[in-house]
Amino acid sequence: MIHYTQDSIRDTLSVKPSKTQSVGFVPTMGALHRGHLSLVEKALSENTVVVVSIFVNPTQFDNAGDLNKYPRTLEDDATLLQTVSKKILIYAPSAEDLYGNKVISKKYRFGGLEHAMEGKYRNGHFDGVGTVLNLLFRAIKPNKAYFGEKDFQQLQIVKKLVSIEKLPVQIVGCPILRAPNGLAMSSRNQRLTKTQFEGAAEIYNILKQAKEDFKTLSIAKVKALAEARFSRHDFLALEYFEIANAADLKTAQRKRKGNNYRAFVAAYAGEIRLIDNVSLN
Ligand code: AMP
Repeated sequence: MIHYTQDSIRDTLSVKPSKTQSVGFVPTMGALHRGHLSLVEKALSENTVVVVSIFVNPTQFDNAGDLNKYPRTLEDDATLLQTVSKKILIYAPSAEDLYGNKVISKKYRFGGLEHAMEGKYRNGHFDGVGTVLNLLFRAIKPNKAYFGEKDFQQLQIVKKLVSIEKLPVQIVGCPILRAPNGLAMSSRNQRLTKTQFEGAAEIYNILKQAKEDFKTLSIAKVKALAEARFSRHDFLALEYFEIANAADLKTAQRKRKGNNYRAFVAAYAGEIRLIDNVSLN
């Protein structure tokens, strides 16, 4: 069953609350794929109730075209979730139900995490993400919430958000699911042509090569080789290739013992923006 309002989902969650009830929450923007389902399955294995929200959040888009063309497939999403478990509760609110009559972002400071990469290239994106998640967490009151490492920067920011907003929820990070050709699964992949889908596999090939190169080469060299390989690609247009410290997402200049590094990519296939990342060590 799909709940369209906070009142409706709250009523259902409070029918049989017990001391042992644990609510797992998976926030999504819908057009669900196996990557989303992996989060849902983990949530089902760790909680007595699981809520999946499906809401294309307008305040995290700085590009109206991207927002308008974002795939919306609520009926199919609900059917897919039913095949995983009939117990899943779906919350698919309107913007008004979640935000009230002012659909605007709060301004956040995430300790600098918000300035790098996605924050630099998508104006106001993390204020929008923080705002919608704060509203969702207050509506659902989950014990645990599940986020993909596909959006690694978002995952770090959500951890910061719950400490800023003092929300009693545990944030659980989950690994990236990939298509058989290596492309990270994404709702946006639905919009790729067959040629774009096949060619975009190069994003993960370049990330894997970077991981290999990272064993022996300097950070500057790894980055230069990856950027050069993107520039030779038929149609992928690289927005950024960054090597950053996994903890604070600051651009890494030199390898230091004990630090974890990740490589991050944003690239366009036509007008579709794709992101991916891997751990380097
Ligand atoms: P979205 O619907 O794109 O906002 O994603 C909802 C959640 O699913 C986020 O926590 C994403 O990081 C996660 N997610 C999206 N794609 C994948 C994937 N390929 N593997 C794992 N998690 C994913």
